[in-house]
Amino acid sequence: MSDMRLIVAGAGGRMGRALVRAIADSKGAVLAGALEAPGSELLGKDAGVLAGLPANGIKLSADLWAMSKDADGILDFTVPAATIANVAIAAERGIVHVVGTTGLSGSDNAVIKSVTNRAVVVQSGNMSLGVNLLAAVVKRVAKALDESFDIEIVESHHRMKVDAPSGTALMLGQAAASGRGIPLDEAHSERGRDGITGARKPGAIGFASLRGGTVAGDHSVTFLGPFERLTLSHQAEDRMLFAHGALKAALWAHGKNPGHYSMADVLGLAD
Ligand code: NAP
Repeated sequence: MSDMRLIVAGAGGRMGRALVRAIADSKGAVLAGALEAPGSELLGKDAGVLAGLPANGIKLSADLWAMSKDADGILDFTVPAATIANVAIAAERGIVHVVGTTGLSGSDNAVIKSVTNRAVVVQSGNMSLGVNLLAAVVKRVAKALDESFDIEIVESHHRMKVDAPSGTALMLGQAAASGRGIPLDEAHSERGRDGITGARKPGAIGFASLRGGTVAGDHSVTFLGPFERLTLSHQAEDRMLFAHGALKAALWAHGKNPGHYSMADVLGLAD
């Protein structure tokens, strides 16, 4: 098979630049386009130069329809509104859509799912092997421990992150909830505490977020029981980790049947 031709959406962003570097280092993929927001001052700049590499001749553009004409896939780490706009175009073009964007609402996720009868979408709040393994272990532990163990998820990220809790924290919460056989809804989660909150809801999954510095992403899940507690944790050391995961997802998805896939599918961890 010839190299997979990939578009990087948000090519001027932190993840976008990491993705351009990951593609340049890869075997089996080439950069076919670099998307940025309409009106961005980076439009027209060379994607390689922005990523700290030699110029590669791919200029940032806001026209996904034009650049996707000969592409095979799009790696999308942007903002929810951009990802939702990209979903329709990727589906229309029949190209693989790897969605790493977090902070998507329930209705955003419904839009993404609505195209997966005809499009290949791989979506994950965290594209790292370690976190996906952590989610699998969390599910197991949550299943083994009853409600006498409270579950608390704590995450830390760099000061520029705009959404909370992180997509990864929600993914770990979802893993814990499915281990317990409960939905991760308002009745079963506590998101942020302030003031006279009352006692903890029995069986709820709690979330707390720290923001500051340059942290690429730390997550811990603690099970607090009578007289003992167990903490499972993961630290991301560099966002290249997520870029390599996203690239692996795109290569795995190339040629797959339409569907909504997760990183657990890509890594063979789905049950
Ligand atoms: P960032 O540095 O702010 O990058 C986002 C980029 O998207 C910016 O360059 C932004 O441009 C661009 N953008 C905005 N609207 C756009 C549009 N309509 N079309 C194309 N590009 C557009 O943020 P980041 O740290 O790279 O993170 C991006 C997303 O990925 C976040 O949701 C983050 O949580 C998520 N993330 C996911 C994973 C994972 O493994 N799933 C890992 C890391 C990060 P402007 O600056 O001009 O608005």
